[in-house]
Amino acid sequence: MRQFNVVVLGAGGVGKSALTGTVSSVRFIRDIFVENYDPTIEEEYRRTVNVDGELSSLEVLDTAGAEQFTTLNEVYIKAGKGFVLVFRQVSSAEVDHLRKQIYRIKGGDAQTIPIVVVGTKLDLVNEREVHRNTIQSLASRWNLPFYETSAKRNWHVSEVFEDLLRQMRSR
Ligand code: GDP
Ligand code: MG
Repeated sequence: MRQFNVVVLGAGGVGKSALTGTVSSVRFIRDIFVENYDPTIEEEYRRTVNVDGELSSLEVLDTAGAEQFTTLNEVYIKAGKGFVLVFRQVSSAEVDHLRKQIYRIKGGDAQTIPIVVVGTKLDLVNEREVHRNTIQSLASRWNLPFYETSAKRNWHVSEVFEDLLRQMRSR
């Protein structure tokens, strides 16, 4: 079985841990939404997934504090095969920065490096319209797939990792 390292990046509070927890064994074993994760803790989750009839092992690293681009992030990016860029409000400059750092560190572009852009907390309907249009147009300009998710309701979370897995397998 092939194994892929995935790194989840984004600002504090956007919902990285909830997203990662939802797709990982946390939700898999007990179907609950964990309301609060320690924002300072970095956790690695492993899960075997069946996508298109093929089993793969996903090792997903939930990072903390990506606002400041640290050397630690650089180490993670080097070790990662695929990336989930999570954002919520219009922190587009920051996501753009992360995207460029990944391309620089890994030495590649949208054609060669697997990335998925994710908007979170889709269940909070009141705040979502602006957010969706902004991220969607950015993602298409960047030539990256975009998903809007809710970890709380378990909406579209598995699609994110399936898309990333298909990209990782083919590159
Ligand atoms: P992180 O700092 O990026 O890891 O963010 P967390 O995953 O810790 O989430 C920050 C806060 O947002 C927590 O209070 C979560 O319960 C909440 N949250 C995360 N995902 C969702 C979601 O899909 N819907 C709702 N309503 N709240 C969420
Ligand atoms: Mg977290």
